[in-house]
This record gives sequence, structure tokens and C-alpha cells, in this order.
Amino acid sequence: MKRNDFHVAVMPGDGIGVEVMDAAIAVLEAAEKRHGIAVSRELVAGGALHYREHGVAMTESAFDRAAKVDAILFGAMGWPEIRYPDGTEIAPQLDLRFRLELYAGVRPIRAIPGVPVALASPRAKDIDLVILRESTEGMFASRGKGVMVDDSEARDTQVITRATTERLTRFAFRLAARRKAKRGTPGRVTLVDKANVFLSFAFMRKVFHETAREFPQLEARHHYVDAMALDLVRRPWDFDVLPMENLFGDILSDLGAGLIGGMGFAPSADVGDRHALFQPSHGSAPDIAGQGIANPTAMILSTAMMLEWLGERHGSNAAIEAAADIEKAVDAVFAAGRVRTFDAGGRDGTAATARAVIEALGA
Ligand code: ATP
Repeated sequence: MKRNDFHVAVMPGDGIGVEVMDAAIAVLEAAEKRHGIAVSRELVAGGALHYREHGVAMTESAFDRAAKVDAILFGAMGWPEIRYPDGTEIAPQLDLRFRLELYAGVRPIRAIPGVPVALASPRAKDIDLVILRESTEGMFASRGKGVMVDDSEARDTQVITRATTERLTRFAFRLAARRKAKRGTPGRVTLVDKANVFLSFAFMRKVFHETAREFPQLEARHHYVDAMALDLVRRPWDFDVLPMENLFGDILSDLGAGLIGGMGFAPSADVGDRHALFQPSHGSAPDIAGQGIANPTAMILSTAMMLEWLGERHGSNAAIEAAADIEKAVDAVFAAGRVRTFDAGGRDGTAATARAVIEALGA
């Protein structure tokens, strides 16, 4: 069944989450008009400020709504001074990942033409990789379950399962195959681990290579996480799809964002077999919130990822084309120097950046 109409939950959240969401929705509306798709939206509250006012970060009925819609568009949640009584941050996005089984954290690290990058090498413009952060287990399986021993010792335990490693591996290879077909990338999947030291990572590597045999037309490799930190700075253009454990993905995706101009340029998606959530890689950025200077590019590109995912899932070429068009429009405004955001040393704020992308869309 082909569908061009979708229903999504919109969760702006806290801080600049609200600001970049407004910008992305304006771009989405323009893309809808241009491509004949309809994305109806349902506002769902949640976040740190919601916790302060109502005593709960996200209500059960909000979780229910999130489970029923076609996709979730998410800004950012969390605020430094607002914490749970045990001192941990308000992060309902982590609960959404666990509850909706959003195991694949897709974080594209792509150099946008015209955006200043961190590396001087002329090859830096070729950076186009995806960090695939497993998002339901690893070290984060211990979240909320850490053990204190007499105020003298603390323990968190890592969990790696065969089932999740197999589905993450299949996701990685299917992604690498799609990228190869669409963008001419090499079709190379590199597991990032620490298999030389920990049993859990040796197991993860074994299951990865066993599962990789299902994809003989693609390359399967592995790399130690410490060497990967070095090589992401030394030769990031050599990598394609990089599946890894949750905490490694948390850390290396920030490093990746740093390579391509910062958090404001790094989109992401948390994808499961039935649900998906799309959000920028950045947080609520309290230091710049409320000033209208946040860079909305990551949120706009995350919205494009949502359209692509919806299009592929429901057989809507119009949604897939809308996604490609948004990405092209973003590239065009930066390549032409029409926009320079504050985080890239310019003076174009959130709304101005969205306006330029909408103009480039020709809507
Ligand atoms: P979290 O823990 O929720 O990931 P954080 O507080 O570690 O969040 P961010 O909110 O991502 O980190 O912000 C990190 C830095 O990057 C801040 O200095 C912030 O101002 C900057 N930053 C993040 N997103 C943007 C953006 N969209 N535009 C401009 N600067 C940004």
C-alpha cells in the first residue's frame, strides 16, 4: 500500500529543542506542499521543564501516543539544574529508546559543502560516514541499576546480547547497501569494539562476523575503539558504516559532529523494527537557549531522515524525494555562502537559516 499521508508526534522538549523544532516544521511544511505529501502533527509534551511543573518528565499517555504514531520528531530534553532526586538528568529520550526498542542510533557524519570543518586536509570535504550507536544495551543497560557497595565502590555492568547484536549488524549492512546504491559509498561495515580486553566485546565481534556472512557482497571489518578515535581524526573519509556499543557511540558521535562543524550540523535517528524517533544529535544547549541563534540544520536534516524513513517504510516516493530535496537545499544554502550560522562564526540565526533553506527548496 502506498501512502503519502503520515501522522507524527512532535516533541519539542526544552531549550533550543523548541527553537530548532519551529524552524524544522517550517521547512517540513514547505516540503509537504512541494511534494504533495501531508504530515499531520500532534504536539506531545515532555522534558525537564515538564518534570519541574508536573512532577513527571513524560506521562504514560505521552508514551502511549509515541507508540501509536508513524514517527516521532523530537527536539531536545534536559536542563542542567533540573534533576531527579538521585542527581541524574531528566532524559525521557532514553526511556523512549528502551520502551520502543529503538536499538539503532543512526548518526550521519557528513561534511556539508561550505561549512567550515575541523581538519585542514583537502579530503575533509569527503567525510560521509554513519556512526551506528546501539541504543538499548551496552553500558547503558546499567542505567538506573548501578550498585553501590558501602560508599566505597560503585559498579555498572555492560550487557551485550546475541539478539540485539544480530539485528544491529543486519541494520548496518542494509544501511551500507542502501548508501552504496544511492551515494556510491563503498559498502563497508566496520564494527568498533574493545574485543582485545572484554569478553562482551569479543562476543559482539563473533556475532557480528557470523551475521555478516548473510551479506557477502559487502565488506565486514572491525576496529578497536581507541584506534578508531585516532583514525576518525586522521582519516575519517575512509569509513562508511560504523556499528558500535552504546557508550562508544555516545562518545564517538560527538567527536564525529566536531569533525563537520559541530553539534548544530549533526542529525540523528533512533530506529527500531516498528518505531523511529528523529532528533538532532545536540541537547537543549542552555547556554544559547532563548536567543534565536541556535543552528537548526541538524534538526532540519533529522526531519529529512524522518521523511526518508517514512517513504521507504510506506512506499512513498514523494516522501523520499522530499527528503532528498531538503538535504539538497541545505547543501545549496551553505555551499553558496547564503547562510553562516553563529556556531560557524556567522550571524544567521535560527529563523533566518530556516528561511534560506525554504527559499532554496523553491516552495
Ligand atoms: P546533552 O547532554 O543533552 O547532549 P549537552 O549539554 O552535553 O547536551 P549540547 O546541548 O548538545 O550539550 O550543547 C553542547 C554545546 O554545543 C553547547 O555549547 C551548545 O551551545 C552547542 N550547541 C549545541 N547545539 C547547538 C546548535 N544547534 N546550534 C549552536 N550551538 C549548539
